[in-house]
Amino acid sequence: MEKRAITVARGDGIGPEIMDATLKILTQAGAMIEPEFIDIGEKVYLAGHSSGITDDDWESLRRTKVFFKGPITTPQGGGYKSLNVTIRKTLGLYANVRPNVSYAPFVQTKHPDMDMVIIRENEEDLYAGIEHQHTPEVVQCLKLITRPGSEKIVRYAFEYARKNNRKKVTCFTKDNIMKLTDGLFHKVFKEVAQEYPDIETEHWIIDIGMAKIADSPQDFDVIVMPNLYGDIASDVAAQITGSVGLAGSANIGDHVAMFEAIHGSAPDIAGKGIANPSGLINGAIMMLVHIGQADVATKIHNAWLKTLEDGVHTGDIAKGGKSVGTMEFAEAVIERLGQKPSTFSPVEYKNEETKGAAFKLAPQVKDRPKPDVVQELDGVDVFLLNNEWTPNEIGKKLEELASPQFSLAVITNRGVKVYPDGFPETFTVDHWRCRFQKANQEETVTNQHIIQLLERVEEAGLQFIKTENLYRFNGELGYSLGQGQ
Ligand code: NAD
Repeated sequence: MEKRAITVARGDGIGPEIMDATLKILTQAGAMIEPEFIDIGEKVYLAGHSSGITDDDWESLRRTKVFFKGPITTPQGGGYKSLNVTIRKTLGLYANVRPNVSYAPFVQTKHPDMDMVIIRENEEDLYAGIEHQHTPEVVQCLKLITRPGSEKIVRYAFEYARKNNRKKVTCFTKDNIMKLTDGLFHKVFKEVAQEYPDIETEHWIIDIGMAKIADSPQDFDVIVMPNLYGDIASDVAAQITGSVGLAGSANIGDHVAMFEAIHGSAPDIAGKGIANPSGLINGAIMMLVHIGQADVATKIHNAWLKTLEDGVHTGDIAKGGKSVGTMEFAEAVIERLGQKPSTFSPVEYKNEETKGAAFKLAPQVKDRPKPDVVQELDGVDVFLLNNEWTPNEIGKKLEELASPQFSLAVITNRGVKVYPDGFPETFTVDHWRCRFQKANQEETVTNQHIIQLLERVEEAGLQFIKTENLYRFNGELGYSLGQGQ
């Protein structure tokens, strides 16, 4: 078998320590890999590359298509963009697969029967990174959820469940509040679920869902969720298995895949040689399955389980008891290569089933004709910066200048109605959303009418800072109503 080129970055903080330990295990276990090392992270940022990676190193990633990555430190402030997010989005790594398993009684946990996989959408949601300051008092972050993005990740979760013999897929959203964005994710989940009648499905609102993860994680099997919820839920899930240092993560795209530990660079323990390399080892096991080296993955996984069983633990697991350092732990795994655990069930990965791409599960988005959608302009939300006018003054003025095409429907502040009939108790800031709806349902309005409306708003001495067009799609509202509207 020829050696498979992979791109490797040691990372920052504890990254180099856990990466060296993990690579040593891979070599001793006979992994047929040819690492190409690249530098990413803190020193690349500080050398002036605000993305944390150089152009040459992108080339390696795109060529090898497999990235094995140590955790990195994102410097706070200073306009540095998270490299993790950049890599995931640039290379289209839309699925983040995070298995969370407890290893009781050898790793202390309140949840001995936990074995769940969190499938986190990796590219969209609030991580689109589109933020603006509108007024001195108000900033916004755009939450983008797309139908193809939701369909890809939801289908991935069902395919993953089927391929890995899992019985249930749960979806978490907050669609009781975010009816359009989370509502779309949930709707797509229900649609796709119909294609998988062999798999049980359920949906929880994220708040109670998270509480259930913390209380009874054994009730979950595969959970799929939008990006931010998945980020938070998977750290909670990893931590309650016993340590955030245990879990690995796979970031899967149609062309490239990246494997890592779920934890960060742990600057508080960096350089001390005490970090747990298990998260990265578990990332490596997923990588080996992905590149078709299931036998090596099996060997390492079983040796690692045997090491835990034999009571060889790093400090985060030993919790004050006898512990070993990072490299000693790796040596203990190496000594046990070829052995099987006796309490835990031995693991066996298979190449013939996976065809060398266990985590690459096509097709995620079905080809389908372009939907036949009639998109009609229904009005416009005009956002004002205002500190001087009262809601009634703004309302009266805008009613005058709305016609003939529009009428003023409502003014809200932080989403709450303040005109007409607002309450004096409502707290307001300098950011006012004024909703204009077309005055006559029989007539069409156009962007040209909106431009003319904005000119009238400006002439009246009011300062607009943003607009949002209001559309109907096949007659259905494509915007939420104001609170109290
Ligand atoms: P962290 O995961 O680095 O550390 C949280 C806590 O867990 C710390 O007390 C740490 O000592 C402990 N811990 C983490 N991994 C451990 C291990 N393998 N063994 C033993 N203990 C371990 O989270 P943080 O402190 O919030 O973040 C530190 C830096 O890491 C930040 O710059 C953050 O941006 C970055 N980060 C990177 C990634 C990544 O590269 N994928 C992920 C998360 C955070």
